Amino acid sequence: MTKSMDTIVSLCKRRGFIFPSSEIYGGLKGFWDYGPLGVELKRNVREAWWQDMITNHNERKVLEGAADAFSMVGLETSIVMHPQVWKAVGHYDLFHDLMIDCRECKARFRADHVPTSQCPRKPSKPPGEHKECQLTEPREFNLMFKTIIGALSGEEGTAFLRPETAQGMFVNFKNVVDSSRVKIPFGIAQIGKSFRNEITPRNFTFRSREFEQMEMEFFCHPDQSRQWYEYWRNRRFQWYINLGITSDNLILRDHDPNELSHYSVGTADVEYAFPFLPEGEYGELEGIAHRGDFDLRSHMEGKLVRDGDDLVVEQDEHGQPTHRGSGKDLSYFNDQTRERFVPHVIEPAAGADRATLAFLCEAYCEDEQPDDKGKPQTRVLMRLHPQLAPVKAAVFPLIKKEGMPELAADLYGELKAAGITSVYDQQGAIGRRYRRQDEIGTPFCITIDGETTSDGTVTIRDRDSLQQDRIPLSETVTEIARRLRG
Ligand code: ATP
Repeated sequence: MTKSMDTIVSLCKRRGFIFPSSEIYGGLKGFWDYGPLGVELKRNVREAWWQDMITNHNERKVLEGAADAFSMVGLETSIVMHPQVWKAVGHYDLFHDLMIDCRECKARFRADHVPTSQCPRKPSKPPGEHKECQLTEPREFNLMFKTIIGALSGEEGTAFLRPETAQGMFVNFKNVVDSSRVKIPFGIAQIGKSFRNEITPRNFTFRSREFEQMEMEFFCHPDQSRQWYEYWRNRRFQWYINLGITSDNLILRDHDPNELSHYSVGTADVEYAFPFLPEGEYGELEGIAHRGDFDLRSHMEGKLVRDGDDLVVEQDEHGQPTHRGSGKDLSYFNDQTRERFVPHVIEPAAGADRATLAFLCEAYCEDEQPDDKGKPQTRVLMRLHPQLAPVKAAVFPLIKKEGMPELAADLYGELKAAGITSVYDQQGAIGRRYRRQDEIGTPFCITIDGETTSDGTVTIRDRDSLQQDRIPLSETVTEIARRLRG
């Protein structure tokens, strides 16, 4: 089945997953609102990530010679940070330029440095190494949203909405080390909003101007950083598969050396075959980057630039640093080996909105099922992983009398008390009620019927297999909880 993005977008609107922001005023390009179902789905995506990275993360002996277990802790930092943060890591300087990207070699050029439609790198490459170039339209880079703090106007009051959550972890590295008992290697994770003034927001929520990131900085000894990079690269890829993305639609793409940032020894992207892309093309869900000591060193020393194989503090024509760091010592001291070093960092940076969109696209499917009168009908269903489904169970009284609504309402109350997000629906023919739930991905529907009142059993219907099992009403909540655990 070929999935159409238009169909998915209209389902999202119709059933309350995602709406255009400020729609009654005509919407605002690049901004989106999550409706009653969307907010539950996205919460589940975030929760699945947080559980995997922090709450349930308990792995031992990952690397030869590494500590038995390693700590993973969370953080929530402010959206507006000291402007110097962005200057030290180089985001600020790139703010005003219009840039053109070469889609082939991923090099980025100032628009005014590209006089023709050909990638400036092309002539310097031996034939065969550089395929035909494809240049993007000029885009403003870096896209940080400006704001004014307090009553100050002009430069002094200017601050920025963060374009990534990562810097919150770097600037708090010392605070976390000093206030908790973490020892290297360890990770600090955060989920939060980021803002980029994208020139061409497009493809539904894929490229928005306000979006949410799920990022983790893993601090380790430089000698072990390559191994940790491999570990996180593979683990993060698997996370999407475990939550129901089929491996045919997901790739883990290692960047070519010429695509790597100047500080990185390796970067891989998890990419998904979104329906809005041409066949064979994939869109980024997450980047897993080896960032070396670039960020911590920048916050210590100032803006770093490449000089041959080294990173050095950028200087102006008077030999002064163009942008100073904090001047604080952000190195780490290992009290067992008595070694002091600046940790290397592995960063898996995922987008909560892109992941949510990928799960929605992956889940969408249609099949043929007989309706109440036995006539074949197209059934739209969302095969969302039960952990992600916004509603876990729906309770239906078969008819609105003979004590069925009361029993159904009691069961609905028990499911909610057990923390299982559920709905109660007594409107319309039972087949139509099933369809309504299939379309939003509810994995289980429970029907209270004549037999319930006589022998105390209910039916549980499975969304995907359509199998219906009769089980005692008194065991329903436990059974649903068991099925949700998988
Ligand atoms: P792209 O190349 O698509 O612009 P990026 O490489 O700039 O993405 P990162 O800076 O690595 O993205 O950000 C990490 C993650 O944040 C991305 O993989 C993506 O999931 C999410 N993300 C980044 N920009 C946006 C955006 N404009 N809208 C929605 N999600 C985004």
